[in-house]
Amino acid sequence: MNLIENLNKIKTSLAEDVELIAVSKTRSNDEILELYNAGHKVFGENRVQELIEKQEVLPKDIQWHLIGHLQRNKVKYIAEFVHLIHSVESERLLKEINKQAKRFERVIPCLLQIKIAEEETKFGLDKEEAENILKTYREKFENVQIIGVMGMATFTDDMEQVRREFKSLKNVYDQFQTLDEDIQILSMGMSGDYELAIEEGSNMVRVGSAIFGEREY
Ligand SMILES: *Cc1c(COP(=O)(O)O)cnc(C)c1O
Repeated sequence: MNLIENLNKIKTSLAEDVELIAVSKTRSNDEILELYNAGHKVFGENRVQELIEKQEVLPKDIQWHLIGHLQRNKVKYIAEFVHLIHSVESERLLKEINKQAKRFERVIPCLLQIKIAEEETKFGLDKEEAENILKTYREKFENVQIIGVMGMATFTDDMEQVRREFKSLKNVYDQFQTLDEDIQILSMGMSGDYELAIEEGSNMVRVGSAIFGEREY
């Protein structure tokens, strides 16, 4: 598995305004360093414990994205360095991120995770809940900035369903842009569906196994 080749192949296929997050969960520091040394500095992790272990020893100019479910009691461990939190799915979580960001005198950029999967199991906010947070958070929270939305499609081979789900998130994104000019990021698409996601308007893709190979847990 040639990681750099995989990465470059994906990168050259992306338009310039699409950012590639290399999802490095379960991957070793050596694998991450291989990509880092080839010039890639943007990585995503979905577990706080794993993220802080890697952040501690890897180069400090890596931009770490937290892409997975985040428990409120763990925000304090990543608040000092996290580049973007993709998975804000409640106002209570946003409140805690704000509180921890304040301790480090910084503003943490966040995405609202929207429930788009037609199946019932995925995390995320309803559009109405998200809109409500977007319209009111500035009065309460000075140390977070909501800069976009994120969503995960249903895990299915039915690409028409995936497309429908991506379209629904793009609609939310378009509407939120009319409400708030900070909304600039539409994070959707993973290894199996990032090309489709980009067709539907994504400008940030989170790609793991297409770079690193299949994960073994
Ligand atoms: C693991 C993960 C990805 C990447 O998945 P691949 O299929 O390996 O590309 C993207 N987004 C989230 C939220 C993830 O947990």
